[in-house]
Amino acid sequence: MASADTLCKKLLNVKHTVVESHDFYTGANGVAHLRIKARPNAWHQDDCPFCGRRCPGYDHPAKHRKIWRGLDFGGILVEIEGDTHRIRCPEHGVVTAAVPWAYPGSSFTKDFDLTVAWLAEYIPRSAVASFMRIDWQTVGNCISRSLQDLEPERSRRLDGLVRIGIDETSYRKGHKYITVIVNHDTNTVVWVADGHGKSVLEQFYRALSDKQLASIEVVTGDGARWITDCVNEFTPNCERCVDPFHVVEWAMDALDQVRKDRWRAAYAKASELAKEAPKKRGRVRSDDRAAQKALAARKEASEIKKSTYALGKAPENLTDNQRIRLEMIQARDPQLYRAYRLKESLRTLLKSSDVDQAEADLKHWLWWASHSRIPAFHDLYEKIKRHREHILNTIRLGLSNARIEATNNKIKLIIRKAYGFRNIQNMMDMVYLVCSDIRIPLPNRKPMLEEPA
Ligand SMILES: [Zn+2]
Repeated sequence: MASADTLCKKLLNVKHTVVESHDFYTGANGVAHLRIKARPNAWHQDDCPFCGRRCPGYDHPAKHRKIWRGLDFGGILVEIEGDTHRIRCPEHGVVTAAVPWAYPGSSFTKDFDLTVAWLAEYIPRSAVASFMRIDWQTVGNCISRSLQDLEPERSRRLDGLVRIGIDETSYRKGHKYITVIVNHDTNTVVWVADGHGKSVLEQFYRALSDKQLASIEVVTGDGARWITDCVNEFTPNCERCVDPFHVVEWAMDALDQVRKDRWRAAYAKASELAKEAPKKRGRVRSDDRAAQKALAARKEASEIKKSTYALGKAPENLTDNQRIRLEMIQARDPQLYRAYRLKESLRTLLKSSDVDQAEADLKHWLWWASHSRIPAFHDLYEKIKRHREHILNTIRLGLSNARIEATNNKIKLIIRKAYGFRNIQNMMDMVYLVCSDIRIPLPNRKPMLEEPA
């Protein structure tokens, strides 16, 4: 029969540890606790937490009592109680000696930190916090500690980059940005930093060695000038591409501008007609022509207002109602419909894999947009003309837009989920952890080959 000490050690899943005693008690809110008193064995009591080296003690007599949370055992809160002391590491100076069960500075066991990180990858942070009985901020700290342990040398992600994507993603409702660099060949995030713009991107390039810079062949991103400037400055031989989904976004913005303008005009017309029609109570009578006209104008304005989704979707994905709405626009509002077709033809040509065909289509599109007499599309024409070569590069190099967009959306989702971490580093660590090939180990089981859906 296993002794209680062995049972405690097995529960805690630790090595190099001596269990001194164990006891149950009931906490203030009636929760049962199992308090296990433990210490590192004599061989490991003076280990440095950073390099693992055995070091001379620094202030051995002045011990400091500390409690660590472990994973619950059948709903019972498990705690380790132990003394800490400081050591003097030749490399890391005077630091608190390591304990075999926890990461440096943590008040939780390693298994606890890793389990929180594993859960945070799949379920909402609030659910993780509630299930593990910790607060939100602690979830972020557990993630950061786990990442530090699983990947001590993150700079290796910068080795052998060939095709990279640069993107800025907003958080805190568009007031703050982080810059994210993706390796398109592995679909992993290789670098994240708080802020955006040229100065931030320069930090990335400066972190690379000459060899690392030399391996980069393709850089994708949106149309930002500062990206092109950095590419020209640091990797002049590299191909600059524009992510097609950004180009589609520009076209969508232009289309929405037209829709808003048309809606405002239709609304103004409806208001004007309503003023002309004498006000009467009840239903509009069929022989009251002025009131009928005002009603029809109001309906038309409302149709334009509600057409955002119909105009934004690809034709093959339209619902029946959206198709009817689009047909109405085609019949009544030639300018808005022209804007819609301009957006659609740009989206379609970006999907082309034949660069000669795409070049001809783009030439035609530019002519069409410049003659469209729609100010928003004239601006778009200027923008597309500026990025013509970058767009054609993307098609020529066969970069999969769907994949790039999927990675981009994944990052945006993580950031949205992680927003609320007051600590930006925690948020960035979450991005590093999820957008990588790191598999978080769970206690007492083999690494899973498949991710849960
Ligand atoms: Zn050390």
